Amino acid sequence: MLLVAAALANGLTSHVTISEYAIDHVPDGELEALVGDPELWLQLQNGTQFPDGGYPLGEAYAETAHWEPFQDRYLEWIRSAYAEDYSGEEARQHVAFLMGLASHGMGDQVFDSLYMQRAYVYDAGSDWEGTSMDTATDVGLAAQTGGQDTVDAWADWDTLVALMADAGVEVDADTLQQGQALTQIAISFGRSAGADPGQQAIYEAQFPWAYAHILDDEVHGSPPWEARVVAMYWQVRWARLFGEVAEIEPLIYTFPPAGSYEHPTDALSVESRLTLVMSRGVMGDLLVADMFEVADAEGNTYAVSPWLFYGTGSHAIHLIPSEDWPADTDFTVTVKAGVPFIDGTYAERDASFTFSTAPWPEREPPIGSACSCQSGSGGAWLGLVGLLALRRRRVGCDAAPR
Ligand SMILES: [Zn+2]
Repeated sequence: MLLVAAALANGLTSHVTISEYAIDHVPDGELEALVGDPELWLQLQNGTQFPDGGYPLGEAYAETAHWEPFQDRYLEWIRSAYAEDYSGEEARQHVAFLMGLASHGMGDQVFDSLYMQRAYVYDAGSDWEGTSMDTATDVGLAAQTGGQDTVDAWADWDTLVALMADAGVEVDADTLQQGQALTQIAISFGRSAGADPGQQAIYEAQFPWAYAHILDDEVHGSPPWEARVVAMYWQVRWARLFGEVAEIEPLIYTFPPAGSYEHPTDALSVESRLTLVMSRGVMGDLLVADMFEVADAEGNTYAVSPWLFYGTGSHAIHLIPSEDWPADTDFTVTVKAGVPFIDGTYAERDASFTFSTAPWPEREPPIGSACSCQSGSGGAWLGLVGLLALRRRRVGCDAAPR
């Protein structure tokens, strides 16, 4: 059984933990009441696990379930089945499962485009072919958090079978249930391996950097960041359940986060990239470089190459600088209206954010803060700090020693 779990290699403990943390980042309101309803955790966790269940079975439904076109089919099915009234128990269960799928798909994109890209550099000596970073980081995360509990399998199997058929994927309900049972094994594996010093040592040795930083919110794309992105994406999906475009569209997150300082300047470093997370899956073929502009305060512009990570359907776009960013410079990044989405819509408006290569501004540390926060990156802060709190904390800490 453990061999199966290891081969599953999916980071499911991480995925479920991301959904758990994301709840805390959703603004108060109907959506928060739904994803935060303990009665619906069963559906939210099952939806979060579902996409990976088909991989060890070699079933095509796994990949399909990760992506927005299938999730859109399910969303539209829910919309019409309940006539946009999500107050009833059954409708709420479906929406919670859908949000789980959304968390999983977005989580993989954010993690792979940011965290895994860094791990390729910082764990360059690891055996990327023979071992799994996703499994290693799952054990690392469970070692710090205790992992996740398994819950009973739940899905509307027959509806999923029908929607998969509509998407061109033949699968039966028994197979989906087998897959879901495998995801439960992966959750159990993460919890038991994470509690076992011998297993911890094995996985830490495989990917030392990735293992150590899995809950580090100083590392872009780590689960604490994924949770923030997922919370934004949930708001987009929630609006769409009512046929609406969310106010936060089309650019739902950026790395570095808007308003950041001390952005690395070396054009060849993975850390110098700008990464945009769009609200909908992007149409790669129609994406061109002049949809993006990076300018300084004097109006000078800087060439970047867009890289739609994972290609068409993905939400994550890296902008790779052609040359080193100049030091001590403030930049504004603009994503122009018209970015094409796979659902046939386009970004309806420009979106922009700022970042800087200058040092964080000096500021008095908050009263009462002795900057013990510098040792506090990771678990203790999770769910407690929003983005603003995080930035304040960094500014305060950075200013203190000067
Ligand atoms: Zn996955």
